[in-house]
Amino acid sequence: MSLTDLARPEIVAMKPYSSARSESAAEGILLNANESPWALVDDERARDDEVGPLNRYPEPQHARLVACMEERYGVPAGHLLLTRGSDEGIDLIVRVFCRAGEDAILDTPPSFGMYRIAAQAQGAEIIEIERHPDTLALNQAAMLQVIAGANPPRVAFLTSPANPTGDLVDESFLEDLLSAAAGRCIIVVDEAYAEFSPAPSFSEKLRQFDNLAVLRTLSKAYGAAGLRCGAVLAKPEMISLLRRIIPPYPLATPVVSLALRLFDPESQRQQKIMLSEIAANKLVLLKALKEQPFVLQVWPGEANFVLARVDSAARLLDHCAHCGITIRSFPHAALLKNCVRITVGSRQEIDCLVQALDTYPGNAPESVTELRNG
Ligand SMILES: *Cc1c(COP(=O)(O)O)cnc(C)c1O
Repeated sequence: MSLTDLARPEIVAMKPYSSARSESAAEGILLNANESPWALVDDERARDDEVGPLNRYPEPQHARLVACMEERYGVPAGHLLLTRGSDEGIDLIVRVFCRAGEDAILDTPPSFGMYRIAAQAQGAEIIEIERHPDTLALNQAAMLQVIAGANPPRVAFLTSPANPTGDLVDESFLEDLLSAAAGRCIIVVDEAYAEFSPAPSFSEKLRQFDNLAVLRTLSKAYGAAGLRCGAVLAKPEMISLLRRIIPPYPLATPVVSLALRLFDPESQRQQKIMLSEIAANKLVLLKALKEQPFVLQVWPGEANFVLARVDSAARLLDHCAHCGITIRSFPHAALLKNCVRITVGSRQEIDCLVQALDTYPGNAPESVTELRNG
């Protein structure tokens, strides 16, 4: 079975929408796209970046940005699709491969919530293989069994490092899974937090496996969540299936212009500094958490956040809110009772959080007094 055989037949059969901009070069006198001849506002910088003026439709997949990101993510030409964040990549994959009412995705709760939303929006079933109730580790045996079984899901979502548990996907397990899934199931590895971990990207496995898709994003380690820019890395056959349903101009001109700047040498230098500062601040946060008697369990993970189980997530959230700090709890996730996820912020932000932990009423009264006097 080829990859295309796994796609929804109506997607394979459809003739993709052909936009004016994709049919001809943006040169000479352009009277083919019902654009305005004038832009009312203009961005000088955008023109320097060769992204074109605002009155023109943007290039559907900006060639220079695609090339920058392919180089950065270490994949050959033709292996990358620009998307509006990884959220759009998740949605495109589910819509291309899952027939409503017939196919399923595999999810491993507790996990990132968008996999479930994309499946529900598409009318796909959700096969849940819960993580281990104490360690929160993946149930690898059960996942392999489902993928190799009689009714495999069409798409399986893995996250490395995972959110909110922070763990990496084991390489030999992934290889086993990809092999078991050949011709039956698309394996998605969401690498939204990859830059925070020294582990290499799984995009290198694209050479061997055509049923793999890797998701990357500029939202986290590029400090650009507001930009809404990410990418799907996959074999050209999968990229061309996804291109059939992506809107004709997914990335706005100012987005492309700003994204290009994230790949210039100065931004790269800044990113290195940012990543090492996050790593240092994470150690400060972990040390503080480990000293608190009300912190029962900590999952340090490999990303820019920490998951911890405390005496009462609701009370800690309240207390932090009182101190002007917002952290995350998971009241609806069965395995995350009294767990909180804390994002590693700046040193000043983490110092404020550590202070809030010290004054949390769950603490022994002496230590609170001591802190107040000091
Ligand atoms: C934050 C996050 C993303 C990012 O989504 P964008 O749409 O790129 O902002 C993707 N996957 C996971 C697991 C995340 O935690």
